[in-house]
Amino acid sequence: MDLTYTEREIQFRDEARQWLEANAPCLPMPPGDSEEGFPVHRAWEHKLYDARWAVVSWPAKYGGRDATLWEWLIFEEEYYRIGLPQRVAQNGIFLLAPTLFEFGTQEQKDRILPRMASTQDMWCQGWSEPNAGSDLAGISSKASRDDKRGGWILNGQKTWTTRGAFCTHLFGLFRSDPNAERHKGLTYFLVDLSLPGITVRPVNKFDGDIGFAEVFFDDVFVSDSDVLGQVNKGWEVAMATTGSERGLSLRSPGRFIAVVERLIALYKQEASNSGDLQNASDDQNGAVQNSYGQNIGDLRRQVADCWMKAQAYKLSTDQTVSLIAQGNKPGPESSLNKIFWSEMDIFLHETALRILGPRASADSEWMKGFEFSLAGPIYAGTNEIQRNIVAERLLGLPRK
Ligand SMILES: Cc1cc2nc3c(=O)[nH]c(=O)nc-3n(C[C@H](O)[C@H](O)[C@H](O)COP(=O)(O)OP(=O)(O)OC[C@H]3O[C@@H](n4cnc5c(N)ncnc54)[C@H](O)[C@@H]3O)c2cc1C
Repeated sequence: MDLTYTEREIQFRDEARQWLEANAPCLPMPPGDSEEGFPVHRAWEHKLYDARWAVVSWPAKYGGRDATLWEWLIFEEEYYRIGLPQRVAQNGIFLLAPTLFEFGTQEQKDRILPRMASTQDMWCQGWSEPNAGSDLAGISSKASRDDKRGGWILNGQKTWTTRGAFCTHLFGLFRSDPNAERHKGLTYFLVDLSLPGITVRPVNKFDGDIGFAEVFFDDVFVSDSDVLGQVNKGWEVAMATTGSERGLSLRSPGRFIAVVERLIALYKQEASNSGDLQNASDDQNGAVQNSYGQNIGDLRRQVADCWMKAQAYKLSTDQTVSLIAQGNKPGPESSLNKIFWSEMDIFLHETALRILGPRASADSEWMKGFEFSLAGPIYAGTNEIQRNIVAERLLGLPRK
């Protein structure tokens, strides 16, 4: 694997950096999960689209630049480097889109992708139900055939739908054959949330933002053109989406490298303010403590460990991209990836809170980041489930 950037990649980075620096919105932006913040983020992401930076690796005809995955990683590094937030369109562009490219009909791609890239349509993810989370194949929302109208009638309830209160469309799984084995009778639907029979009820997160929604389906008619992949083969399609969520697309290394850069700056600033840096360099026995009673040597090693974790994640992603470039498809390794990024995110934020000591609770940016990081081992499939997948499918251990 040659990790040297080509001339074209260097130029791509320069162009992205210049555009982002000249056009970035005022930071910090209001939270994307809030009523006031969502439209601000959407407008910013529309601006990215207008300049063809929204979906760089997509074909030009859908609003992209035909960029390689390497260039996409470079763009992500530049995006997060200047402190920009994660995208409110992410569930569409990073999760549904790769699945559409793989399983969608030409008509579906042409109809859905440009509107998704431009933020005209905002997509949310409808897997979880009140009685089916980790056990996704246990969903009970139903799709019943309506031959007369050439489509399906949806009934049931989805829950924990991220940004569902603000989105216009939902992709999700419904049980289309109640008599088939659990994984076999499921179909993947693409649903316009303005259809008659749909009720969206916002759910507040503990920070007060409307992060989620419950979505109720009451005799909702969707046409055959809204089925993604084959009828009753939705499980395979959904696994492609979860593979993107756990693997390459949702959490690029640029995001964590940017957090570590901020962390190092925070450490240096805090340490130089209190004279700790000097104390640490004079500290032969590793016993010097800062004013909060933290061992400075430990703290410094922890910051270095954060940096190493982010770099290791970048190298591992480079390896994944190399394998994809050679025609391989990421498999259960994406579960390993998910465990790593979610646990690293908590570690980075815990380190920041440790550096800040008793002032941590007053630092809303690090605190909010920390609170969100705590959800990492739950969303995209809990880490317990990912460890089961690693045990069974990578290590070949027995199921029970
Ligand atoms: C921030 C956030 C965003 C989310 N966004 C979405 C979204 O957009 N769309 C969506 O559909 N869902 C979303 N979810 C829901 C998420 O997918 C579920 O919370 C998750 O799959 C776990 O399901 P559950 O909450 O029903 O917990 P349960 O499945 O009831 O699990 C409870 C606990 O038991 C453990 N457990 C369960 N089964 C096993 C097993 N076989 N082996 C070992 N341990 C097990 C779990 O790991 C967990 O610790 C989101 C969740 C969060 C926190």
